[in-house]
Amino acid sequence: MRADIPTILHDIFGFPGFRGVQEQVVGRIMAGQPTLAIMPTGAGKSLCYQLPAVALDGCCVVVSPLIALMHDQLRAAQAVGIRAASLTSVDADWRETQDRLRSGDLDLLYVAPERASGEGFRNLLRSTKIALFAIDEAHCVSEWGHDFRPDYRLLRPLLDEFPDVPRLALTATADHHTRDDILVQLGIPRDGLIIAGFDRPNIRYAVHPRDGLPRQLSDLIAGQTGPGIVYAPTRAATEKLAETLSRTGRPTRAYHAGLDPHIRAANQAAFIASEDMVMVATIAFGMGIDKPDVRFVAHAALPKSIEGYYQESGRAGRDGEPAQAHLFWGADDFARARQRIGELDPLRQQGERARITALGGLVETGTCRRAILLRHFGENPPPGCGNCDNCLNPPPSIDATQTARKFLSA
Ligand code: ADP
Ligand code: MG
Repeated sequence: MRADIPTILHDIFGFPGFRGVQEQVVGRIMAGQPTLAIMPTGAGKSLCYQLPAVALDGCCVVVSPLIALMHDQLRAAQAVGIRAASLTSVDADWRETQDRLRSGDLDLLYVAPERASGEGFRNLLRSTKIALFAIDEAHCVSEWGHDFRPDYRLLRPLLDEFPDVPRLALTATADHHTRDDILVQLGIPRDGLIIAGFDRPNIRYAVHPRDGLPRQLSDLIAGQTGPGIVYAPTRAATEKLAETLSRTGRPTRAYHAGLDPHIRAANQAAFIASEDMVMVATIAFGMGIDKPDVRFVAHAALPKSIEGYYQESGRAGRDGEPAQAHLFWGADDFARARQRIGELDPLRQQGERARITALGGLVETGTCRRAILLRHFGENPPPGCGNCDNCLNPPPSIDATQTARKFLSA
């Protein structure tokens, strides 16, 4: 060990202290205990492996599914002076990275899952001192998860070849099926599970049936100050909505994976710098974007899952100040979802169907939205939060005795 943990936290990362369960997770890793950490987006998962990577002898191998995200993290780690590199299909300096790894000159090595599971990489690790395996976005290992990636399944033999190296799996999004599956797939004992609280009390949740969406969104924007994100279901819809909403007088841009990379980057940079811009985007926008003062997130259509909804709406109010999440939905969203599920591999249909049913519960409930969200993540919240549409304006059609019975039988 090179220095004590608080000193590294302060001097290298520049943080005055740990947040939430970070301390517990880092403590387990320093003690060599395998761990699955479930922490919401923005909770600071990266620190949970980056800090041990600096503190421990040897290199921490990080598996992460998206090259763009990996390179963002890599740059951030290098910026604070961590000796970090990546091995992906777009990296040209493989030989140098391998040499640095062998000679003990790396704290942190990011690899794509398809590299990590290969024989060549395993050989390389045999001649290296490894401090830790970190598996980011670990829900990708599970078919129950909303983003299954077969390459993640191939990681297990690699982990098992180095039984003395602690393994840390991290994810923001895992219902209890996915959670159990990650533990089994990655060989982490049940007592290695650490779950951070999911509640974002400063976010006010509201759900609306779609009824003239452009007008609904224009009204919403007119009543809101500060930057906001509108998630639209298709690329074409983002551009069309952006044009419509720009007529409100608010600076408005579009973002999706099909845009020219320069325009995309320019739009993202403009949003990050802006204090009042509305970004109309597909869900390609947001991963790895750290803008604390987003005041509202609106979904123009039903998201793919509660996990997705939580993560996307969670980009509002990271600064802890009041923020809003609005979800607009229509019956046709459910029809489209059913069609999409019908086209899937039968193995995956069950999980996807459960996800849509859970979303149905969220949009149709006359009771607390937050309670539904939090229960989905395995928490046991009070029946009313006082900061969602249903708590603030209880819908008249709900029969009180029926509601009471529902809670009693829950
Ligand atoms: P996640 O991967 O869980 O979404 P990140 O690791 O990207 O979160 O961290 C989110 C933000 O929180 C980053 O800006 C990071 O610098 C910040 N952060 C992480 N840990 C701390 C801490 N202990 N104190 C203050 N800020 C922190
Ligand atoms: Mg992360």
